[in-house]
Amino acid sequence: MRSYAEICRLTVRQLMDALSSGSLTSVEITEGYLASIAAQNGTINAFLEVYEADARNEAAASDARRAEGNPLSPLDGIPIALKDNMLVAGHTCACASRMLQDFVSPYDATVTQRLRAAGMVILGRLNMDEFAMGSSNENSAFGVCRNPWATDRVPGGSSGGAAAAVAAGMVPAALGSDTGGSIRQPASFCGVTGVKPAYGNVSRYGLVAFASSLDQIGPLCKTAEDAALIMGVIAGHDRRDATSDAALPTRFGLDARDDLTGLTIGLPKECFGEGLSMPVYHAVMAAAEALRAMGAKVVDVSIPSLPYALSAYYVLSSAEASSNLARFDGVRYGYRVKEYADLDELYRRSREEGFGLEVKRRIMLGTFALSSGYQDQYYQKAQQARELLRHEFGLALAGCDALLTPVAPTCAYRLGEKTADPMQMYMGDLYTVPANLTGLPCVSVPCGLAEEDGASLPVGMSLTGARESLQTLLSIASAYEQRQKPNAGIHPYDRLLKGVTKA
Ligand code: GLN
Repeated sequence: MRSYAEICRLTVRQLMDALSSGSLTSVEITEGYLASIAAQNGTINAFLEVYEADARNEAAASDARRAEGNPLSPLDGIPIALKDNMLVAGHTCACASRMLQDFVSPYDATVTQRLRAAGMVILGRLNMDEFAMGSSNENSAFGVCRNPWATDRVPGGSSGGAAAAVAAGMVPAALGSDTGGSIRQPASFCGVTGVKPAYGNVSRYGLVAFASSLDQIGPLCKTAEDAALIMGVIAGHDRRDATSDAALPTRFGLDARDDLTGLTIGLPKECFGEGLSMPVYHAVMAAAEALRAMGAKVVDVSIPSLPYALSAYYVLSSAEASSNLARFDGVRYGYRVKEYADLDELYRRSREEGFGLEVKRRIMLGTFALSSGYQDQYYQKAQQARELLRHEFGLALAGCDALLTPVAPTCAYRLGEKTADPMQMYMGDLYTVPANLTGLPCVSVPCGLAEEDGASLPVGMSLTGARESLQTLLSIASAYEQRQKPNAGIHPYDRLLKGVTKA
């Protein structure tokens, strides 16, 4: 029997091996994580709700299956948690919004069903920016989430709770959603590995929509290998999501070799210019050198339209959000004011009181971009920029197996540092939005630490590839992680978990 703190350091792969060898049970593992959450969540606020009783029952049922020799999958009994915008039947799904604070999921999302079919134990729902709009988790209606590496800093967003929970050893893996970087940027800020799969690879049935042409669900884990294991559970065609693509891979067995000979990695020069902080620049360049030393050919490439990506993203995502969020009208779903004179006032005041500032800003921006007379000027132009980007990424990837860029221009910043200036906050999404606009798979991998004002903070690098290339991207990431051990021995859970002892 290992201590709780030891259990919480293990990867999904290690937990899987411990379960199959019988050295740990799902109940022991689940109790370890529940103790870790109890000890840390008061500070970190990554979990909005912990499904303690359900988790204990699911763990016991898993152990019973295994004892009979019938585990549902190799991951049977391993805990996981979901961002608060995916449906888990019978539980609240609030999207960290007042609007949905009392909304109970009537059914399981497809990802939830798949986790259950694999026997995974669902620990709870995770903090996020309201309706996934934001980059720092500061737009949550239920309090900020803190970065486990430095608790005066943001965990990134919008899947801030997912990244912080994995980084702090409160759960071995989590699911987030990524519309413009919301899995990858928090992964980078918290020193974990995050995957934005190709558009269509994971069903969004039961994910509350933000911008439907961009949204994808993906895993956040300690390692690329773990992300591959979780992708193997959640990926796959689903007829209930019309954008689901049966041609995309569903198995992600990683290439074990750590020799990258034969692979070409491109550095888009537009991603290494103005706005990029020096420590991040150096960390990503050092990673490029490491990949070269492992045998990869590293070349310069150009995506000339990249400077348009951010504007195109904010026009398109807000336009789609204004349409998607029209359903929250105080009548069919969610928050409704108690007193109102007429139907118009019911709509107006329910939306006014139910939505937070940033969500309202996006709805107004999107409604404006779609309004008559402006549609050509903004929405159509943004679609054209999107098409150009698709074309240019296609050209660049014709000569490369992966494109290497920073995930974000800086490390995690201080709480409150950017809340007064939305433009500054949006600028941080510069390197992540292209993968959503193009629909390409993209992996965020820790690539070391940078010193900032006395704090040692994680830096992430990003690998983007062709539509069906996720397995290659994860193999490169995994080889890099095993060779470089970017955060070895200094994970925040090594510090934070000291206080987690057996109850
Ligand atoms: N930070 C981006 C935004 O605010 C991305 C959000 C996301 O991927 N959900 O829109």
